[in-house]
Amino acid sequence: MAARILIVEDEEPLTLLLRYNLEAEGYEVDTAARGDEGDVKLKENAPDLVVLDWMLPGLSGIELCRRLRARPETRQLPIIMLTARGEESERVRGLSTGADDYIVKPFSVPELVARVRALLRRANPDRVANLLAFGDIELDREKKRVSRTGKAVDLGPTEYRLLEFLMERPGRVFSRAQLLDGVWGNEIYIDERTVDVHVGRLRKALNRGHSDDPIRTVRGAGYALNDLFGKTA
Ligand code: CA
Repeated sequence: MAARILIVEDEEPLTLLLRYNLEAEGYEVDTAARGDEGDVKLKENAPDLVVLDWMLPGLSGIELCRRLRARPETRQLPIIMLTARGEESERVRGLSTGADDYIVKPFSVPELVARVRALLRRANPDRVANLLAFGDIELDREKKRVSRTGKAVDLGPTEYRLLEFLMERPGRVFSRAQLLDGVWGNEIYIDERTVDVHVGRLRKALNRGHSDDPIRTVRGAGYALNDLFGKTA
């Protein structure tokens, strides 16, 4: 499946030039000429990478970048920022808002294409994979379905996101605060005990009819997918 790229840029000739060249590389390209339009498209269907102009009508590239980083679904989305400003302080500001890379206008198109390629390669391949697997558990992102030993597991939306988050990083231990940040987003205030409630629900649904628990509670630290799960069976 071709990687999808969204270009958010208000200079039409540049958008056309980038679209032409990225499509020639085999990418699927979508465009938006305003920041707010880009925001809507990104909410509807997140691409694999965004080329984002700094100065945009509707909503600035910087603000859009901040919003993308604040949402769990787009937290790790690769972003290349285009900027006409060359000052060092502005560049640093661009990167501190969470862009992965930036290019100063005017730039060469082959250079941008090379950076797109590099960034997509660097991005976690699991993030773009539609099917995540852990032991006997499978999570299908396209269908938003989870199964264990081939049998469907019925999960609420929060439990689904929690499992997806954990399956993207199996074995890694997350504190309750990190899970809140990654699954619920940092804009909403929720008590950390809420995490325990949802982990409990996720466990109950996943382990129905099974004796082994894929989720490990790490005392004083948080939760992780047990990296020994499925290996001893
Ligand atoms: Ca612009």
